[in-house]
Amino acid sequence: TDACLAAIETSGALNAFVHQTPDMARDMARAADQRIKAGDAAPMTGIPVGIKDLFCVKGVQTQAASRILEGFRPEYESTVTQNLWDAGAVMLGKLNQDEFAMGSTNENSVYGRSVNPWKADDGQELTAGGSSGGSAAAVAADLCLAATGTDTGGSIRQPAAFTGIVGLKPTYGRVSRWGVVAFASSLDQAGPMTKSVRDAAIMLGAMASVDEKDSTSAERPVPDFEAALTGDIRGKKIGIPREYRLDGLRDDIASVWKQGADMLRDAGAEIVDISLPHTKYALPAYYVIAPAEASSNLARYDGVRYGRRAKLGQGDGIVEMYEKTRAEGFGPEVQRRVMIGTYVLSAGFYDAYYNRARKIRTLIKQDFENAYASGVDAILAPATPSSAFPLGAMDDADPVQVYLNDVFTVTLNLAGLPGISVPVGLDARGLPLGLQLFGRPFEEADLLNQALVLE
Ligand code: GLN
Repeated sequence: TDACLAAIETSGALNAFVHQTPDMARDMARAADQRIKAGDAAPMTGIPVGIKDLFCVKGVQTQAASRILEGFRPEYESTVTQNLWDAGAVMLGKLNQDEFAMGSTNENSVYGRSVNPWKADDGQELTAGGSSGGSAAAVAADLCLAATGTDTGGSIRQPAAFTGIVGLKPTYGRVSRWGVVAFASSLDQAGPMTKSVRDAAIMLGAMASVDEKDSTSAERPVPDFEAALTGDIRGKKIGIPREYRLDGLRDDIASVWKQGADMLRDAGAEIVDISLPHTKYALPAYYVIAPAEASSNLARYDGVRYGRRAKLGQGDGIVEMYEKTRAEGFGPEVQRRVMIGTYVLSAGFYDAYYNRARKIRTLIKQDFENAYASGVDAILAPATPSSAFPLGAMDDADPVQVYLNDVFTVTLNLAGLPGISVPVGLDARGLPLGLQLFGRPFEEADLLNQALVLE
């Protein structure tokens, strides 16, 4: 804990930790020490972690990297963080992210962008990815041993790939969403961001629980994920989805994908070509469903119940209060999502957009169900269409250009399935590349065991 606190002290250039809790950390470390001495240690006892700003931690500033939550100190603890503290983990502080987890570069944050600890040959500063960019940067730079992330459309897996770490999105319902600031509730899922697959197994075990406070929490016992890590994947069938071989797929991504398939084959798995025919509709469906749910979730930020209220002028009434508070409290990307979401849910367009997107979602889910029904145990795909790109590279881009970053990740959230991003190799500029494995629902133990082979 002391080593992490010291490392954080000199890590300002990365802008990963946006709020530190050193007193809390030392107290928790001391308590962990007692617990270890008493012979009562759990696997995460004494392990210093960073928490994405999206998680409510009682009494600790929680802003989801938004101006509108300025001054918000929750009276309650998220189930995930409570589970971590119960396991003995140590809280180092809150980590940077895109505002309300909307983004792929961590550039939509009231705290400013976080920076990837990896540098290009020319010394250019690179994005750590998003939305969990601060979590990824902090783990990659050894500021903490692990961090929490959330993944609505790739926000754990993409930043993990950009920073050379492991990121796991559990099955929807495996980890409680209670106390995690909501973005798109039918897609959001919290998970671990760690230095290794083994750490991911240990941390998932600590984070997961059956939680009556989350109505979508699954009634599934939490297995010992670490015990499942045998590295034996003989006889497993791994599918390579042909629809992920996009036109213009970068050579280095294609070759690392092949390298991953070879590693799995060498370990005794059978590699088969599969088809997930509706893949190309996933991104447009996601960018209808996620903003729709966001526009509804974000209605609660009204200047009354949480955080910040705008200064009002003479004669301003309640409508002006809402308008001014939301206009200055939400950043441009969040406002864009609220507008898109409101539009696709409006009476005249509901069927044309939202309902159609929901139907596509069902087809995408069926694609995966068919693949698994045909005997495939897991699916191997690239995590991202590129390695980390320079900060600012997307500044003048059309927002849709930024959304294209998520082309390999959003399918899984729409289907509610578990997936893991593992670093496999480097590109020509020496930057990390990640591969994803998609698993069967609630079979994270199997998935982690397969991922071990890619490490
Ligand atoms: N980049 C995607 C978005 O902006 C995914 C974000 C996420 O998973 N939280 O919506």
